[in-house]
Amino acid sequence: MNYISTRGRAPALAFDDALLGGLAPDGGLYVPEQWPQFSAADIAALEGLSYAETATRIMAPFIGDSLPADDFAAMVEAVYGAESKIFADPVITPLVQLGDNEWLLELFHGPTLAFKDVALQLIGRLFDYVLEKRGGRVTIIGATSGDTGSAAIEACRDRNNIVIFMLHPKGRVSEVQRRQMTTVMADNVHNIAIEGTFDDCQALLKAAFGDTAFRDEMQLSAVNSINWARVMAQTVYYFVAAVALGAPRQSVAFSVPSGNFGNVFAGYVARQMGLDISRLIVATNSNDILARFFESGRYETATVTPTVSPSMDIQVSSNFERLLYDLYDRDGDAVSNLLGELADHGGFAVDDARLAQARALFTGYRLDDKATEETIAQLHRDNGMIIDPHTAIGVAAGRACHRDQAEPMVALGCAHPAKFPDVVARATGTLPALPPQLANLYDRPEACEVLPNDLSAVQDFIRTKGTVKASG
Ligand SMILES: *Cc1c(COP(=O)(O)O)cnc(C)c1O
Repeated sequence: MNYISTRGRAPALAFDDALLGGLAPDGGLYVPEQWPQFSAADIAALEGLSYAETATRIMAPFIGDSLPADDFAAMVEAVYGAESKIFADPVITPLVQLGDNEWLLELFHGPTLAFKDVALQLIGRLFDYVLEKRGGRVTIIGATSGDTGSAAIEACRDRNNIVIFMLHPKGRVSEVQRRQMTTVMADNVHNIAIEGTFDDCQALLKAAFGDTAFRDEMQLSAVNSINWARVMAQTVYYFVAAVALGAPRQSVAFSVPSGNFGNVFAGYVARQMGLDISRLIVATNSNDILARFFESGRYETATVTPTVSPSMDIQVSSNFERLLYDLYDRDGDAVSNLLGELADHGGFAVDDARLAQARALFTGYRLDDKATEETIAQLHRDNGMIIDPHTAIGVAAGRACHRDQAEPMVALGCAHPAKFPDVVARATGTLPALPPQLANLYDRPEACEVLPNDLSAVQDFIRTKGTVKASG
């Protein structure tokens, strides 16, 4: 399987090169040359398999012959298998019934309590494996305002060929989120608190990547949400959930809390592969660029409003480009033009036929903070369950769009409520407890370097600590 760029002007790569490459050199995102196909019989054969076995089968065609099949299966088993202690629940992504044919797919049983662990735990090992084979090392740098940072750190800690630097805005991330990053004591993990905002952190990151000499010297890389392998690994749980609910005989709808469009795009991929998904609900908070697009066909940036679901506070959704590429019949020039319009004029529109095509599968839905808190309160009252604000947006959107009661509606549970204790306590009157593996989070020592909002200070720090042994 080869990977091509959504802008159509980069050479095709095998899986391992697309994995390490991240963004394509033409500025596009990698997608597989074609969608692998699973027949009804292939999907029926997944019934009764473990998460790890399903994951190996679903991902195998994406890996192709770029990694030895046995080595890949062993990595998958190490992350999701029965012996692995990485996820607190043995079935990895349990389904919990909420109501009449209404389900919650809990994706938050990983080390940092958010769905990003499900893919990133595998990605960290994949990076390490490929680098080991090549005799290379990379320096991963990232900027985070919340969940991504801790999930990336947990994925990279103790990996031999990776050093990770994570920038966060000093004093501007929640205490749980900061501690989930700064209490990881590993030689290859470096937290940097920048005296500035999240935008400053992102600008520093961009500038560091833009400095070609520095990028090459330090072998910079990223594990952000545009990395193809993350989408691939997220596709697995759509199959796992649908098969548990009767696929391939039964179709299923999913409601997905969305920010960068990565998680819901994985659902689209599952459908392209042959899974009978009748509808994908793109559930947003008031940062609703996606909901507006599926309503109007216009994709238009707005300023970011802080909400109680901060992991979805985005201005543009980076993975949306992958859907555009298919909507435009894989015409890279057309995608380049639209993204150019977005950069120059803050938006673009698609024609009615393409909007209709998108709406045949996707429905946009938006929830403000008040409705989000009401949903948290409602589930607590009616089901005795405590859910996090991101999950609440998925549940509420699923309820609003659940037209056919004969068909299962699955909301994706994206984070553990203890990650967002303030809003959850306000809505339910109960302070959610951290699960046992994180119970002592508030007692653990922290390590973090405070640096000014200054590129050369950040680069100097990375050079000193980054010990990339390029010369052996
Ligand atoms: C990252 C994140 C999201 C948004 O997912 P996308 O793939 O960016 O759409 C939603 N909820 C939580 C808790 C997250 O961490």
